[in-house]
Amino acid sequence: MDVYNRIESWMKSFGFLEPWNIDLQAMADELELLVIRGPIRAAYIGCSDLDLRVVFIDTRKEPWRQRITLAHEISHHWLHSGCQLWMPKLSRELQEWEAKRLSFHLLAPDYMLACRLNMSVWELSEEFGMPMTWIRQRMDIYWSKHSLHGGI
Ligand SMILES: [Zn+2]
Repeated sequence: MDVYNRIESWMKSFGFLEPWNIDLQAMADELELLVIRGPIRAAYIGCSDLDLRVVFIDTRKEPWRQRITLAHEISHHWLHSGCQLWMPKLSRELQEWEAKRLSFHLLAPDYMLACRLNMSVWELSEEFGMPMTWIRQRMDIYWSKHSLHGGI
């Protein structure tokens, strides 16, 4: 089972069956992530030696941006270890891409999209609380996985 399927199974275990059920704070709590909100730069800091996992959310940003950021930082926690500060640029960019991709699944999992394929991009944007550019990228990933030409 790949990471996307595992995270979607995990989301179902929370009872997140509709977009408005998705509670990212509950997911952060389950992962024992400390979420600190304030006028601070968004970041994830994880240190397994100290058993420390902290997500910073910048409250100067719009609420939808804060929500997306929390999904992004949860994704880093789920996928990555180590400190990006000491990483080569390409490795850092790869981690950012991976976190963005997984955050798409946290915000709009396949099993919720599957029954909304007749909706417009605008409707999906409203439904999932994601910007239209993000929904377009999310649907590209969905269709690349579910097309007849094979998955990813
Ligand atoms: Zn990131």
